[in-house]
Amino acid sequence: MLKRVLIFLLTGFILTASIHAQVRYTVIPESPRPGDPVTIAVNTPITDAQLIVNGRQAAKAAGFTVPPEGTQPGFMAAILAVPSTVEAENAVIRLNNAGNIIQEIPVKITQRTFRSETLALTAAMSNLVTTPDPQRTIESERLWEILTTTGNQIYHEGPFVLPVTASTRRTSQFGTRRVNVYPDGRRTTDIHAGVDIGGPVAGQSLQGAEVFACGRGMVILSRMRILSGNSVIIEHAPGVYSIYYHLDSLVAREGAIVEAGALIGYVGSTGFSTGAHLHWELRISTENADPDAFVSRPLIDKALIISRIYNNGLQINLLF
Ligand SMILES: [Zn+2]
Repeated sequence: MLKRVLIFLLTGFILTASIHAQVRYTVIPESPRPGDPVTIAVNTPITDAQLIVNGRQAAKAAGFTVPPEGTQPGFMAAILAVPSTVEAENAVIRLNNAGNIIQEIPVKITQRTFRSETLALTAAMSNLVTTPDPQRTIESERLWEILTTTGNQIYHEGPFVLPVTASTRRTSQFGTRRVNVYPDGRRTTDIHAGVDIGGPVAGQSLQGAEVFACGRGMVILSRMRILSGNSVIIEHAPGVYSIYYHLDSLVAREGAIVEAGALIGYVGSTGFSTGAHLHWELRISTENADPDAFVSRPLIDKALIISRIYNNGLQINLLF
């Protein structure tokens, strides 16, 4: 009898030890599209996660700790964005710890097509972009400094709320390939970094509508900028920022913690803008991501992550 108990305990111990040594991870969603944010969770320490496409780094994000809460175990996570310029193909998410590869996870990037549009710029808009102005350089350097800063606070875990309730009409989609036509006929191209929300129906202005924080977070910037007009930037999780441009006036205060749905300003047409609308953008470790992706799923889906990376070990751990 004693021998049986010993064998039972020993087997349990070996199984437990092997499970603890195993890297267990999950990637949400499993087959992201170009422009989608991707949440990665793992049961072992990581310093960063890289998205490798055709052998080259397409995106990189720092790892952060999601601490245990009550009876829920903690884990490590990283949130990165698949650039909208990546073609549909097989890619790899590489998890690293201090320069050592911990795990390589194959991911299939699902095909997505983006719209294209032509913007006719007014002389005033053209001047904003082309007239040399040192303040514009200072502002773009400050923006880059913010976007390249990865904090360690998780302010928001659930899905986002939409930043405008007065209208659901989109006047420009995320990832739209744009041709800007200047008054002198010159053309430039860019990719629309966010979504534009205009009046509820064409011809009806959204001017003065309330703008809300899409999630809980710290207000990192709330001030006038030359190109983006009155602007708000909120940090929601390490490396994850939501951005609101062209506001008529600002309510959010820099340094304040705001709740999801908190009033941060009013819709306007300040800066490089053709009419009253909200430009709503999501940046993840500097990369543009589709902000709507986090409306339909949580930033960090703790319940799903824990069920995927821990539950297989749970049964055996219970022997002790
Ligand atoms: Zn826009």
